[in-house]
Amino acid sequence: MIRSIALLAAMLVVTAAPSATAQTAVQTGPLAGLPTDSAAAFVDHMETERGEPPATARARFALAEDLEARGDLADPRAHAAFLATRRHLFAGFDDPRQAYRDAPLPIGWGQTISAPHMVGRMTSVLAVEPGHRVLEIGTGSGYQAAILAWLTPSVYSIEIVAPLAARTAALFERLIAGGLETYGRVSLRTGDGYYGWPEAAPFDRIIVTAAIDHIPPPLIEQLAVGGIMVIPVGPPGAQVLLEVRKSRTADGDMIVERRDVYRGRALVSFVPFTGGPRP
Ligand code: SAH
Repeated sequence: MIRSIALLAAMLVVTAAPSATAQTAVQTGPLAGLPTDSAAAFVDHMETERGEPPATARARFALAEDLEARGDLADPRAHAAFLATRRHLFAGFDDPRQAYRDAPLPIGWGQTISAPHMVGRMTSVLAVEPGHRVLEIGTGSGYQAAILAWLTPSVYSIEIVAPLAARTAALFERLIAGGLETYGRVSLRTGDGYYGWPEAAPFDRIIVTAAIDHIPPPLIEQLAVGGIMVIPVGPPGAQVLLEVRKSRTADGDMIVERRDVYRGRALVSFVPFTGGPRP
C-alpha cells in the first residue's frame, strides 16, 4: 500500500512539469510549424523544409516517442526541440542506428554526449520558456546547447577542453552558414564553468553536464530568483541528478531547495567536472 502511494507520488512529480507549462504555446519561434504528432508529417517536413534524408528523421522521431513513453521527454517544448535537433550532426556521423540509439556517444578527449534519455529528462526538468537566459556548463559536442537554442534566444555555454570547444565552435559556424540560423542564439566560451559567466548573469536556467561533488557557489549566485538548475552531484559513477530551485521568502530571505529528479530510484553517471578551486 505504502509502496503504491510512493509510486503514485513519483508519477505525479513526472507529470507536474508539463501541466505547469501547458499555457505556453508548444511551438513558438523557430519551432513553429514543426509536426510533432505524426511520424510521416515530421519526416516529410524535415525533408522538404530542411533537406534531411528520411532515415535519420524517422529514427529520431521513433526515439523521441520511446523517451516520451518512458517519461524522459515530459515537457512538450523539450520534445519539439529534441525532434528539431539532429543528434547525428553533433555526433559526427550519419548512421541513424548509432546516432539514435539511447546510449552515450564518445566525442573525443575522453568526453561523451549524454544518452538521449538523460538529455530529454534534463531538458524537461528545465522547462525552458521563450526569453529565458540559459547557461550550460560543459558544451562538449554542442548537442545539448543546440536543443536549448530551439527553446529560447539566449543560450550561453562554457567548455573547459580548449580543442573540443574550438571544434564545436567551428561546427556551430558551419551549421549557421548552412542555414541553421537558430544556432546563432548560442554564445560559446572556453574556460572553467565553475565560476559561471558573471557578465551574462542572472540565468533563469542552468544545466551542468559534468559530475561534481558539490554545487558550485558561483552558479547558485548566478541563478535568478525563481530559477532552476539541474546538476549531477556525487562521486564518480554514482551521482544524484539534482533539481535546484532558488526563491525568496516573504521576509526576503533567499532559499535554495534541492530535489532528486529520480526520487531515489536511480543514480546517474556523468563524465567528471574538472576545474574549480584547487584543494
Ligand atoms: N552537454 C554536452 C555533454 C558533454 S560531456 C553535449 O551535449 O555534448 C561534459 C563536458 O563537460 C565535457 O566536454 C567536459 O570537458 C566538460 N567540462 C568538465 N568540467 C568542466 C568545467 N569546469 N567547465 C566547463 N566544462 C567542463
